Amino acid sequence: MQRILIIEDERDIADLIAFNLERAGYEVLKAHDGITGARMAIHEPTELIILDLMLPGKDGYAVFKEIRRDARSRETPVIMLTARAQTEDRIQGLEAGADDYLTKPFSPKELMLRVQAVLKRSDAKPGAVVVEHGPFRFNKNDLKFYLQGEPVELTSTEFKLLLFLTERAGKPQDRNDLLRSVWGYSDDVHSRTLDTHMKRLRQKLGEHAGMVETVRGIGYRVSSS
Ligand code: CA
Repeated sequence: MQRILIIEDERDIADLIAFNLERAGYEVLKAHDGITGARMAIHEPTELIILDLMLPGKDGYAVFKEIRRDARSRETPVIMLTARAQTEDRIQGLEAGADDYLTKPFSPKELMLRVQAVLKRSDAKPGAVVVEHGPFRFNKNDLKFYLQGEPVELTSTEFKLLLFLTERAGKPQDRNDLLRSVWGYSDDVHSRTLDTHMKRLRQKLGEHAGMVETVRGIGYRVSSS
């Protein structure tokens, strides 16, 4: 059972969130001030933290910093809550590294969608978050790609394509498998699209373009070293 911590001083809101999460099958912990919240976030392992910003004792930003400083809670995703609708709060929260943000009042349905989306993203974490291969480095969390340590802007399609090939380096990948893995299906139109994407991808790889080989009659391969 996945465990979620709610840090919110307004008890009726905390109870409403807890009710909806429990009904959806999550186990819920609650803290009603910043000091207790920070302590629980660090000492009680949870899969997700819902953090209100206006809190007695210690405000939400201070709690968030503490959560991120401690190795035990550093990786736990955080959804921030605030009554203030100002965009500057939203930006500040996301820049601080919150995984998502909700402005009060919000519907239980909206909250559940955010919770599920954040948990789904962090589910992908176990195992290799970062894939390294030769000059390539992929970060699956933020979909960033680095070539010899330098960030290279890839579209999400290019990222998926190159990652798929890299995780199977040395083995030629059939065109249809590539299409299905990236676009979800294969047909003639997408078959041409695949080649266009591969061409653009190679341009972005510059001097390392040779890492992506065309395998005649099959598809593509990322070389094994
Ligand atoms: Ca509050």
